[in-house]
Amino acid sequence: MRKVGIYYAFWTHEWEADFLPFVPKVKELGFDQLEVNAGTVTDMKPADRATLAGAARDAGLRLSYGIGLPAQYDVSSLDEAVRANGLRYMRRMIDAVGDMGGGTICGTVHSTWPATLPPGHEDKSRFRDQSLRSMREMVKAAEDRGVVLLVEVINRFEQFMINTAAEAVAYVEEVASPACKILLDTFHMNIEEPSIGGAIRHAGKHLRQLHLGETDRKPPGLGRQPWKEIKTALDDAAFDGSLVMEPFVMAGGQVGRDVGVWRPIIENPDLDALARASLKFVRANLV
Ligand code: MN
Repeated sequence: MRKVGIYYAFWTHEWEADFLPFVPKVKELGFDQLEVNAGTVTDMKPADRATLAGAARDAGLRLSYGIGLPAQYDVSSLDEAVRANGLRYMRRMIDAVGDMGGGTICGTVHSTWPATLPPGHEDKSRFRDQSLRSMREMVKAAEDRGVVLLVEVINRFEQFMINTAAEAVAYVEEVASPACKILLDTFHMNIEEPSIGGAIRHAGKHLRQLHLGETDRKPPGLGRQPWKEIKTALDDAAFDGSLVMEPFVMAGGQVGRDVGVWRPIIENPDLDALARASLKFVRANLV
């Protein structure tokens, strides 16, 4: 049975948040997993991390973590000082998540977000090489701490390095560690993949988690994503990872700005009711 989760930022205008109240809320809505911001967790006091981990454990809720590394922590930078800074930050993050019992950290763990190929460069291979150097160091720490880094395949307008499942498969096969796997996201796949089902099947055994959202990032069930094709591909790939919905429907704040929501995607949304209805749709159609 595939676990189903949701990303906390569906409810917030800012990335910084107190995650503790989301544990009973998301549990009551019926989810199995809560995804939180790995950067916030990294900067929390150890006692607060223990409280959050304990609350999730008591509720029977799995925690997972997401990050788009800020530019000063770019582990794919050609500037060795920046890259070293990113490696130190990722080490702290891996230790923080390790202290909470381990788990997955997804997102732009391999570079920085948002990012375009830096001016003056025509070829991304040097950045990719730097990223691979960093990832080979990071997975050593991750393997020791029960952490798995999930490289998220992101569309071309947000990142340049890994835009397709094929690029991600090539990357993780070069890393060749159980602590470096793939996350695909239906929103990004809708832009980049000629076949969404084909991308999922190609990611195959490397696919550890799927982010769910309609083409405009509404909650699953309210749009035109090919959910039947996605379900068939997940079954073909014998996918037993988590399905984490990552909807964004509100304009405003840094979250609205960073995900490019400049109008209400849904007017006056009842967020809890939307989450509950979408969960029902996902359990009926994708689990
Ligand atoms: Mn995503």
